[in-house]
Amino acid sequence: RIDLPQNVNFIIDTLYEHGFEAYAVGGCVRDSLLGRVPQDWDITTSAKPAQVKAIFDHTIDTGIQHGTVTVMLEHVGYEVTTYRIDGEYEDARHPKEVTFTSNLKLDLERRDFTINAMAYNHRAGLVDEFDGIADLKAHVIRCVGCAHDRFSEDALRMFRAVRFAAQLGFDIEAQTKAAIKELAPALSKVSAERIQVELVKLLTSDHPQMMRDLYELGLTAVFMPEFDVMMQTPQHNKHHMYSVGEHTLHTLEHVRADKILRLTMLLHDVAKPVCITTDEEGQNHFKKHPVVGADMTRKILRRLKFDNRTTDCCCKLVKEHDDRPAITERNVRRAISRIGTELFPLLFEVKRADTLGQSMYKRAEKLEYIAEYESVYRKILADHQCVSKKEMKINGSDLIKMGVEPGPKLGDILDRLYEQVLDDPSLNEAQKLKELANKIITSLI
Ligand code: ATP
Ligand code: MG
Repeated sequence: RIDLPQNVNFIIDTLYEHGFEAYAVGGCVRDSLLGRVPQDWDITTSAKPAQVKAIFDHTIDTGIQHGTVTVMLEHVGYEVTTYRIDGEYEDARHPKEVTFTSNLKLDLERRDFTINAMAYNHRAGLVDEFDGIADLKAHVIRCVGCAHDRFSEDALRMFRAVRFAAQLGFDIEAQTKAAIKELAPALSKVSAERIQVELVKLLTSDHPQMMRDLYELGLTAVFMPEFDVMMQTPQHNKHHMYSVGEHTLHTLEHVRADKILRLTMLLHDVAKPVCITTDEEGQNHFKKHPVVGADMTRKILRRLKFDNRTTDCCCKLVKEHDDRPAITERNVRRAISRIGTELFPLLFEVKRADTLGQSMYKRAEKLEYIAEYESVYRKILADHQCVSKKEMKINGSDLIKMGVEPGPKLGDILDRLYEQVLDDPSLNEAQKLKELANKIITSLI
């Protein structure tokens, strides 16, 4: 019933030829049954890691202490993990020890959800001890065994329940949900790295607005209390129909499923609650919130151990998301110089999504503004106008040849030349810049 890739069948057959059992298991079985393309193919086997390593030519010790060996075939890795029972869980984080077993059912029993606890090979067909098929058909996320116990063993599973619901468009079964509500605070024991993985998967899923479920179940309170504050902050502003948090959820659906875009939308208004002022008419204003928001974004993404590039990109986009210069080539060049051409296209996506998440008030004008902004941006790039210092037709060594001593003064001169080029791109010619440099040098003497 499931078409396993040739390499997966080869690994399974080879293990059987050596007297072991082997099955495709977990996410790949679930996704195949749903007609989705599996991310990767995991194999579970009765063979011990040393036996797997002895059978295949090229293997990598991925997590040998947990029983996982990666088998390499045609430069693709397949994780082969020995049937195991997870021992007592320490502080809701990791099992103290794992025990290998020769019983497939025990291996399936340790898995988180019924839909993730099915195994398949073409000899035995589908092994489904916990009626995962019924839950797949009913679109339900349900724990294997007692939800309360399973979440107590590993608190990350609570986040995973919402993440799978968001990826698959499923509901979380009532008892599973009740157990999450009760045990949500235990998520604080889980490492930032593991939370980050699940957060990114949820945000880049088809249903990123299920961040709301994470909030309602008490999970965001643990790792991103700033989001709870947004959900609880009304806007009272004609540009908005929703609270800060609800607006945020709407914008998530208006950007592509890209990590940086979705994280940026999640955090673009994070500082609004701390930047509120109310005027005589009772309208709220949120002055400078993008600047404060960029700092808060950095703090949050650092806390969740995001890499520097992701963090820097999101901070920059949060900071710039509401900047609305008068559209002149000069202003747009300055914006490009600040933001860079790698990130600028994302800024337009952020601005559009932000607008689409707002009320209808002035929506057409706002979208028209963004379109005009973008067309001027494109013209500047098409004209190859200078928008970064490194594109200047003069550099430090040119200035040194002209007699300027290396040092801060040289940097100042370059900065002043760059300012002039940003104002007037036609100045970006070697000869003209030399003349301008000479003027600056004489004025400095
Ligand atoms: P994805 O498409 O995101 O890779 P997946 O189901 O393969 O989904 P993984 O995190 O790769 O998810 O885990 C592989 C399998 O290992 C799961 O299907 C599940 O059976 C099991 N598993 C993973 N994490 C846990 C956990 N924290 N507790 C119990 N079982 C888990
Ligand atoms: Mg997987």
